Amino acid sequence: MSADCLFCRIARGEFSTEFLLETDNLAAFRDINPQAPTHILVIPKKHIESLADLQAEDQGLAGELLLAVKELAEREGLSAGYRVVVNTGQDGGQSVGHLHFHLLGGRALQWPPG
Ligand code: 5GP
Ligand code: ZN
Repeated sequence: MSADCLFCRIARGEFSTEFLLETDNLAAFRDINPQAPTHILVIPKKHIESLADLQAEDQGLAGELLLAVKELAEREGLSAGYRVVVNTGQDGGQSVGHLHFHLLGGRALQWPPG
């Protein structure tokens, strides 16, 4: 936990954010600035700065996060497909320094990204 990290604060429930999924280890909520009809963020409750900071000891947690993304995609009815994005670091376009998986779907997505 980090006192002033936005996503740690969301995970602690400081903003009464609606969680679509919550376990002891993770939380999922809708992105405030959605880029697709479905745009959900899945985060670990533990403060991990980015994918680049994930450790071997986080292996189980990483699996939980990915399975949560899959479950949410099913719940959202994204049977036509979806995209999972983990922006990492400066060149990756990461703007919040707490690991998060974007789940994007509900429209045909373009490739490659910018
Ligand atoms: P990044 O650019 O780090 O990959 O993604 C950060 C995401 O967090 C952005 O898509 C942004 O819209 C979202 N975001 C930033 N602040 C908030 C917030 O306070 N609440 C929610 N729900 N999403 C946020
Ligand atoms: Zn954090």
